[in-house]
Order: sequence, then structure tokens, then C-alpha cells
Amino acid sequence: IRTRFAPSPTGNLHIGSVRTALFSYLYARSQGGQFLLRIEDTDQKRTVEGAEENLVTVLNWAGISFDEGPHIGGMHGPYRQSERLALYQEQAKTLLDSGNAYYCFCSEERLESLRQKQEASKLPTRYDGHCRTLPAHEVLNLLKVKTPSVIRLKVQSGELVMFEDIVRGKMKFASDTIDDQVLLKSDGFPTYHLANVVDDHCMEVTHVIRGEEWLSSTPKHVLLYRAFGWKQPAFAHLPLILNSDRSKLSKRHGDSAVEDYIKKGYQKEELL
Ligand code: GLU
Repeated sequence: IRTRFAPSPTGNLHIGSVRTALFSYLYARSQGGQFLLRIEDTDQKRTVEGAEENLVTVLNWAGISFDEGPHIGGMHGPYRQSERLALYQEQAKTLLDSGNAYYCFCSEERLESLRQKQEASKLPTRYDGHCRTLPAHEVLNLLKVKTPSVIRLKVQSGELVMFEDIVRGKMKFASDTIDDQVLLKSDGFPTYHLANVVDDHCMEVTHVIRGEEWLSSTPKHVLLYRAFGWKQPAFAHLPLILNSDRSKLSKRHGDSAVEDYIKKGYQKEELL
């Protein structure tokens, strides 16, 4: 059994994130497995200086310890996604080769006008597959003259994507509602979906335990595991901590960061 906590270092540690980390930690420990920390820092614009050190300190304070991570090393490193870019690029290439992904050269302007048109006709906003059928020689020419491009997942229509969630049971999503996800951006950085799936596979994670807000990403991940020909991990999506009016616990409603509780003098036993 291998579980992981995979935060993005974007600020203070939300109390709901610590709860998720705690479940992953307890599950690994109770099964004699390993628990690892992976820093999902591929969105460099959102990365906050010092956030990684801070979250390690806070988790340490809470007594949640790791077997592997950027701060202690391990056999499956590096544990920061920004240090694994070559791996994602290589894996995206394998999907191009197997016909499960394609280059998309659509400009920001085209995508924006597509989005506006879809919104105006009350259609779901999604990519229209414009570059899916570009002939190979045209793709080569566009690449040769260095036209900016992204790599997208080729999602087949008319399928039912199913998986068993440990908490919620059988989940079903129509593939028609799943966009041709961008996997690799034009700057060579992966999106969350690609990096998350490649890493969970390469780091041999057996149980993906995460917050409910990621549930709608999971069918995309299932399709990716399939496209790669990899065994998918077990999924458990945990409910979020809510305010009494059932809205998501946020700063506006008072304390949401663990740091706030530490500052107020709470003991870790009380918080846990
Ligand atoms: N980086 C995501 C987060 O910030 C990870 C979600 C997941 O566990 O897959 O929560």
C-alpha cells in the first residue's frame, strides 16, 4: 500500500487538506504501507515562495510523517513536479505515438471566440476538436516553423467511463461530457491531469485519497491510465469540511488555515 499527499504550494495549509493528508497517512500506516509527499508545483504562477517549507513544518507539527518526499528523498524522486518535466514530455510523446493524443495549434483568440460562441448558445464550453484531424504533413510543417502548440488527449465519444470510488461507490461519466484535455502546455509544462497520473503511476501509488473537489477529474485520469496501458490505482474521494450553511469552509467564515489554529494555541491533539 502506497498513498500520497500531493499539495500545490500556493499558500497556507487549509484545514481540509490536513484532514485529507491525515486519512492518507493513517491508511498507509495501518496497512504497513508507505506515505509520500509530492509537491505539485507545475502552475508556477500560483506557486508561493516558502509554502512548501511551511506545509512540511505544519504537517510535522501535526505528527503526520512521510516516508518519502522532497525534504527527505526516496527511491521515486524527484518529488517536486517542476523537477520532472522531461518525464512528462516523454510520456506525452508516447500518447502521440499511440494515437491517444494530438497536437493542437489553436490560438488563444480562436479558443476564446469558440468559448464565447458556445456560451452565447448556452452550450457546454469545450474544445471542438478542430486540430484532431489535421493531416500528419501539416502537423510536421507547423512544428517545423515552431507554431506554438499544446498536446491534447483524444477522448472517444459515446463511451461510459466508470470507476469504483471507495467512499462513493460506482461512478459513471459519459465521455461526451469530457473535454479533449490539454496534457502538455505550449511552454512544455504538464497540466495537473498528466503530471498527476504519470506520477501516481511512476511513484507506485496504490490508493489515491483526495478531496471530493477532484472527483470530476477522475474520469479524465481513468482515460489516461487506459491510454497509457497502466493499471489504475484505487480512488477514494473524501467529503470536504463545510461551514454550517454547507458552503466550503473558507477564510471569510473564520479560520481555515492550520496556522491560524497553531497561532491561537491549539494543541495538535485538539486539531486532529
Ligand atoms: N495538487 C492537487 C491539490 O492541490 C492534488 C489533487 C490530488 O490529490 O490529486 O490538491
